[in-house]
Amino acid sequence: MKKIIVANWKCNPQTLREAQKMFLELKQGIGRGEKAEAVVCPPFVYLARAAEIFKGSKIKLGGQNCALTEGGPYTGEISAVMLKNLGAKYVILGHSERRAIGEDNVLINQKIKNVLKGGLTPIVCLGETAQQKQNNETFLILEQQVREVLQKITSTQVGKIILAYEPIWAIGGGQSCPADFALTVALFIRKIISQIANPTIARRVSLLYGGSVDSANAEDYLKTEIFSGLLVGGASLKIKEFLKIASLT
Ligand code: PEP
Repeated sequence: MKKIIVANWKCNPQTLREAQKMFLELKQGIGRGEKAEAVVCPPFVYLARAAEIFKGSKIKLGGQNCALTEGGPYTGEISAVMLKNLGAKYVILGHSERRAIGEDNVLINQKIKNVLKGGLTPIVCLGETAQQKQNNETFLILEQQVREVLQKITSTQVGKIILAYEPIWAIGGGQSCPADFALTVALFIRKIISQIANPTIARRVSLLYGGSVDSANAEDYLKTEIFSGLLVGGASLKIKEFLKIASLT
């Protein structure tokens, strides 16, 4: 199956001029043979310009978060429908950096439902903290996250969601998760999905790995069918590095 390589630019870069330069470099560099679906999730304020630049290219766009509802009196929020109307296909939900400022599984579950209703594909982040890993709670936490974020979501809808295993201790620090550990967790996540939905969906659901991925370690996760692709943070800001990762697929 086609792999998905997602770039999460987080709160970068600081100017539209820099963002445009990066979009153009991406557009020029992509499409020379890689089979992956390359997805870029820039800050909201650059999405409209990205959509113009990427028109006619294979690169897809995503948001990094979105509102709980379609619209209304929600100061500072961006709705899934707005993202869709701008040309986005995906939206990252429940990133650990958003969980750190108060988002929990219940809220993420509501956002997933709203995003599916709005016609976008949610990329739902899951992962344990360093402390939880140290306490041997990885599987406990992951099971709780999977069950709670997928609460009352139909099997068919589960099949439309992309999950991303992003161990929090591996994010941003240059310490990636050993591939064998990531694979064990990924298989466990698929087992839970099999119980929640069914074995076919569990096999087919897209599951990404994220956490200090770069061109040197990307293949460790890409070479197995257990992972459907990668969620790349820091390394995605270096366009040549991101293109190199995408070219490995
Ligand atoms: C992320 O924040 O989603 C991420 C994977 O970051 P990094 O690649 O920098 O660890």
